[in-house]
Amino acid sequence: MTAYFNPSYIFNPVSDDTIVELSPTQILKSQVCNRSLGYYRARVKPMATPLNLVFGSALHWVIEGFIKGYIDRDEMARHFSEEFFRLSMSGLISMAKSKTREVNEVIGKRLAEQFPAFYDNLGLRPVIIEGAFKLKIGPNTYINLVIDFVGVAERDIIFDGVVIAKKGDTVILDWKTAATKEGALFAGIALQLTFYWEAVRLACQSLGIKEPSACGFASGLKPNMSKTDSDSLMKAMWQPVQWTKRTRSDVEEAFDYARVVAGRIRRGEFHRTSGAAYNSPCESQTRCDYAGLCLEGSKRGYRIPGVLTIADLV
Ligand code: SF4
Repeated sequence: MTAYFNPSYIFNPVSDDTIVELSPTQILKSQVCNRSLGYYRARVKPMATPLNLVFGSALHWVIEGFIKGYIDRDEMARHFSEEFFRLSMSGLISMAKSKTREVNEVIGKRLAEQFPAFYDNLGLRPVIIEGAFKLKIGPNTYINLVIDFVGVAERDIIFDGVVIAKKGDTVILDWKTAATKEGALFAGIALQLTFYWEAVRLACQSLGIKEPSACGFASGLKPNMSKTDSDSLMKAMWQPVQWTKRTRSDVEEAFDYARVVAGRIRRGEFHRTSGAAYNSPCESQTRCDYAGLCLEGSKRGYRIPGVLTIADLV
């Protein structure tokens, strides 16, 4: 049955006196497609949770447990498995074609097991783990952030031959997992880290720490492999942090961009973005959570896709 209910309220403009709250995830979604941002804000449920998201959540959970001291270093792999299983059971999961659930599990266990040694080697004293921050970027407009890690260097951090942070300096980290390590350019401009930087800078006095000196992603590599006993499992390793910094102009540009996104939300501008021809986000759930769910038709007349009803969407 085809549903003809018009769900355009998802995309309604909002008045200037309504509070608009954003997050780095929402800003990233707006960069892929503003229509997907509209769905995300309206809490339209994706058809299935990508397995990569489940993997990342389970790994973040054991890392937090280890740093906060309630998961023992020898128990990291077991706790990862249990959390991965628990999260995998909570709904429909979409699988990446290249890696089965079992392959993801062995990779996650190995990264979890290795994390304590990797962390010890960073030489950081934790100050905040998974801390919530709120940045005001304009009238009635905020960015909500959850920062994975803020810490103080216990020794000088040398990166690319220069001291990027001295003993006692504040650093910010985000735990990531990906098939390839992030490049220096990406680490240098990633908006997420820029917002973290400013949030920590504004809060540093009340936290009793210095302004941030360095930030970066700590990436656990997920090698391409199709069998659990593949030799490539050895490549599942935490990579050296690609340390970077942020300037005032980086922060100003990131705020400007966030205000553009907030303005589009206020004006109800949720235009579709098809992307490039063969890797359009519309064609794959790995690029857009709403591929397959997306309303048919333009802003001038939406229609719910044939096999779905409004109950499938919200
Ligand atoms: S399916 Fe395409 S148009 Fe629809 S939200 Fe996703 S990227 Fe945007």
